[in-house]
Amino acid sequence: MKPSLPQVLDSTMIVDFRSCYERFRNRYMLHLMGRDKSGDLIAGGAIAAAIEAVRIGVYQDGKDVPTSLIPAYKAFVKEWRDYIPPENSRSFKTFGNCWSAVEQYFTWKPPLTDELQPLRTRDNKPFVEFSFAVPLPILHPETGEPFIYVGRFDLLGSWMDRTVVSDEKTMSQMGSNWVSQWGLRNQFMGYCWGAQQYGYQCNDALIRGICLTKEIKLAEASANYPDWMLARWFTQLLQDINKMVEYWRVDARDYNFGNACTEYGGCAYRDLCVSRKPEVWFQHYNRAKWNPIHRRLDPIEPLEVAVA
Ligand code: SF4
Repeated sequence: MKPSLPQVLDSTMIVDFRSCYERFRNRYMLHLMGRDKSGDLIAGGAIAAAIEAVRIGVYQDGKDVPTSLIPAYKAFVKEWRDYIPPENSRSFKTFGNCWSAVEQYFTWKPPLTDELQPLRTRDNKPFVEFSFAVPLPILHPETGEPFIYVGRFDLLGSWMDRTVVSDEKTMSQMGSNWVSQWGLRNQFMGYCWGAQQYGYQCNDALIRGICLTKEIKLAEASANYPDWMLARWFTQLLQDINKMVEYWRVDARDYNFGNACTEYGGCAYRDLCVSRKPEVWFQHYNRAKWNPIHRRLDPIEPLEVAVA
C-alpha cells in the first residue's frame, strides 16, 4: 500500500520536497527520522520557549527581565527534557551554552528598548508568537479536503516603522553570507503571506541569529518581500503541491542524487538510497511524525516491513 500524503504542510516540508522527493517521502510519508538530528530541534525549541516566556513576562505581565527569566528557565527545562548531546558531539548546543545564549540575547536586545516591539491583539495581548493555518485551493487526493498551509513564528511586530514577521534562528556556525541569505527564503515569504491572510499588511522579515560556538554570537538581518514576490511564491507553492499530488498518484520515486545528498553533513536517508532493498534499513530509523502546527516530532509505532 502506498503511504499517505500529509494534508497539513509547512515551509520545512515544502523545502524538503523541492530538494528531494525521496527525502520528503521518507520523512513525511513513511515518518522515518534520523537518530542524530533531534539535538538541533531540542536546542532551538528550548531557546525559543525561553525567549517567548521572557517576552510574555515583560510585554504582557509588566515584569522586568530578571523576574521573567524565572518562568523562562522553567519553559527552557521543559523543552530540553532529558536530552543529552552525544558524547562524541563537537556541537556547542549544550544545556549550559543554550541557556547562556538566552541570557545574552536579552543583554543584547533588552525588550523595553528593543527597536522591535510586538503588535498587539484586540484584547491587548502581544503577538509574541503568531500561528496561522490557511486552506489552499487544492484538494487532498485521499481526504477530498483542502491542503492547509501552516506556519508559526516568534513575533509579529513593528520595526523601523514596518510591520515585520520576526524569528530567532539557532545555528552552529554563522557564515559570511548569513546576513544576505534571506531574500529568497521560502519560510519568511510564507510567514508574510500567512500574516497577510490574517489582515496584516506585512512584507518584511527580521531574522535574529543565535550562533552557538565557543563564544555565543548574535546577529540581525532583514528581508523585504513585495506583494508581487509573495504572489510568485504562492504560485510556486501551488505548483509544487500539484506536483506532489501527481507523484503520489503514480507512486513515483524521484531521487536528487546531487548536492542534497551531501550538504549539511549528509542526508539522513543515504543508507536507504544506496541500498538495493531500502526496507532492510527501516529498523535503523526512529519513527516520528513531523507536527507542522507545533513544530515538533511526535513518536509513532515502528514500521512493520516484510522483507523478502
Ligand atoms: S540521499 Fe539523496 S536521493 Fe536519497 S533521500 Fe537523501 S537527498 Fe534524496
